[in-house]
Amino acid sequence: MKIVSAEFLISNSDFKKCPKIREPEYAFIGRSNVGKSSLINMLLGRNKLAKVSSKPGKTQLINHFKVNEGTWYLVDLPGYGWAKVSKSLRSEWEPMTKGYLTTRENLACVFVLIDCRIPPQQIDLDFIDQLGEYGIPFIIVFTKADKLTKNKVQSGVAAFMKALKQRWEELPQYIITSSEAKTGRDELLDFIGDINES
Ligand code: GDP
Repeated sequence: MKIVSAEFLISNSDFKKCPKIREPEYAFIGRSNVGKSSLINMLLGRNKLAKVSSKPGKTQLINHFKVNEGTWYLVDLPGYGWAKVSKSLRSEWEPMTKGYLTTRENLACVFVLIDCRIPPQQIDLDFIDQLGEYGIPFIIVFTKADKLTKNKVQSGVAAFMKALKQRWEELPQYIITSSEAKTGRDELLDFIGDINES
């Protein structure tokens, strides 16, 4: 699939105020600093659509982007697990994300971003478990692949999938990406395109 248009639509702090949309939407989520904004910009082919920041934890909003004349939408969800944010603030994010994920009727798939350099983290595994419990469709997107050799990327992926295997009978699909090297862009867009057409 090609990107012919992409524009920011709206930010919401209340999931109930998200725009009513019939077309499919795809949500991106991961721990802060995983490379979510960079990936969204790379995917949509727009440099500054999602804000890349050296200050993790800034996104506490649900951001909607209208893509290809509104035939589908991309959603940038707040990052989770930012250690420097107080526990009380962290727990405030949870209901918003949970509310969105469990009630959004046109949500076609969640992309769970995992930094391929970092060993499996409990918070990511727990997040994925919850998606499973709610029956929310998702795949794993490994980020920052350019930072490692191909072999090291493969062992990072294998370690994460092994950790998932201890909890899941069936393993989710995954895509390896690098926003820097623009790796995985076609694969992600084709994945979305296939669901849009189904
Ligand atoms: P977010 O907090 O998840 O939205 O992460 P950002 O997109 O803001 O990225 C966090 C940091 O990682 C920034 O310094 C980015 O430049 C860097 N980064 C993100 N993606 C990549 C990537 O694919 N390769 C490399 N080398 N750096 C990346």
